[in-house]
Amino acid sequence: MAKKTTPKKRPAPVEDLNLRHIVHQQFDRAARGLDVPGGVLTSIRLCNNTYSFQFPVRVGDEVQIFKGYRAEHSHHRRPLKGGIRFATHVNADEVAALAALMTYKCALVNVPFGGSKGGVAIDPRVTPADVLERVTRRYTFELYHKNFIGPGVNVPAPDMGTGEREMSWIADTYGVMNPGDLNAMACVTGKPVTQGGIPGRTEATGRGVFYGIRDLLDNAVAVKRFGLDAGIEGKTFVMQGFGNVGYHASRIMVQEGGAKLVGIGEWDGVLHDPKGLDPDKVKAHQQRRGTILGFGRARSSKNPRSFVDIPCDVLVPAALENQLTLNNAHRVKARLVAEAANGPTTPGAERALLKRGIAILPDIYLNSGGVTVSYFEWTKNISHMRFGRMAKRFEGMRERRVLDVIDAATGKTGFSDDERYQLTKGPDEVDLVRSGLEGTMSDALNEILGELGRGRGKDLRTAAMRVSIRKIAATYEALGIFP
Ligand code: NAD
Repeated sequence: MAKKTTPKKRPAPVEDLNLRHIVHQQFDRAARGLDVPGGVLTSIRLCNNTYSFQFPVRVGDEVQIFKGYRAEHSHHRRPLKGGIRFATHVNADEVAALAALMTYKCALVNVPFGGSKGGVAIDPRVTPADVLERVTRRYTFELYHKNFIGPGVNVPAPDMGTGEREMSWIADTYGVMNPGDLNAMACVTGKPVTQGGIPGRTEATGRGVFYGIRDLLDNAVAVKRFGLDAGIEGKTFVMQGFGNVGYHASRIMVQEGGAKLVGIGEWDGVLHDPKGLDPDKVKAHQQRRGTILGFGRARSSKNPRSFVDIPCDVLVPAALENQLTLNNAHRVKARLVAEAANGPTTPGAERALLKRGIAILPDIYLNSGGVTVSYFEWTKNISHMRFGRMAKRFEGMRERRVLDVIDAATGKTGFSDDERYQLTKGPDEVDLVRSGLEGTMSDALNEILGELGRGRGKDLRTAAMRVSIRKIAATYEALGIFP
């Protein structure tokens, strides 16, 4: 009798998950064939410097040592710009990679900053607010002493684990150390509106994600090329990560785009409801209970990895890096992966997805809404006036005259009071911010698609990176570094 054999379990594929190596691979693929000297390419690719430091903070009766980082990837434009991450896994390689992505992102969306990124290895979920405040203030102090922060030097912003609250602590600490500096507020962006922030910054990355997906699905050439169904309305999507970016992107995709949120992944599990989830109600539940699980009648799974199994049109990773890997790329059911997070797809997963005809909207394009509106906030801070202050009334008056002329020509009052109000109120600052963001996202997508259309780069990431590298190289050329 033949001996029974148990089938051997296939070993999980091994991948290099170092984000710095991954970004280098993406860069090298995009740089191939570009008309830029090798030395210039190398200097664009490398991270200029990373400051790693340790600092003591009192926690209860003890003194604890925390590890902080700030990487400066490129000084081809100043100041440098990039978020601050509070997470236990923060390390020097991670911030260097994220800083590089910032450089490429800023160049792609024509935001005149070099790329930077920073962080503290700390878990904000379990750290009391008073300790977080002392850590944030001390971190700012350490950056200041090494000239790693300042309105014209390096300007942080929120990232994973940080938000308006931390940004206002940073602004306050910097301001205390720079009395009389008129531009001190511009040392950081993502501040509360009452402290020099700008309306629309908190939702900006999520809103940019919405514009990016919507515009791709509205572009007839792209839709044909990637075999997608046109239009965002009615499209199902799954969001992994329901923090700042994931929540706002979900909310705007549902409320303004008419898309249907059928699944949400979080660190402790996954919610699934094919009938659609209400992002605001899930957020309220998450804030009340500390988890998305157990929401209404939706199916809850305690396996956080199962988000990839949910059938949908668009899968949106909005949590952290290395979420789509060789281990799970074959399970993705979507036609489009929209990278709201930085670095969520490994190169192996990317190859597997592209081979299956699944398009990937890359991070350096799709989550650039945050830095775009940060640029607006920084500009507002150094100009010391809110956008639209001088033009609002004038524009409202001009629009009123146009309506009066139409009414006079037609001989009747053709507009309701509400229509008249909406058409003549003049733009508020948030209207200008949204319109600036929408235009920026649309222009960048056109540049990426133009690059693809000219047969350069076979996928959206490579095309986006090529656009960025070429723009950065042009600044070297202007400096005479190019032969
Ligand atoms: P956040 O801290 O507000 O939210 C992250 C969410 O992901 C949290 O709800 C967290 O619980 C969840 N999460 C953490 N680990 C997870 C895991 N293993 N599986 C599933 N969910 C997990 O952070 P954010 O600001 O929304 O940033 C999310 C991503 O977007 C990051 O990659 C960040 O670099 C990128 N990003 C953020 C901004 C911004 O303006 N905040 C701008 C550009 C890019």
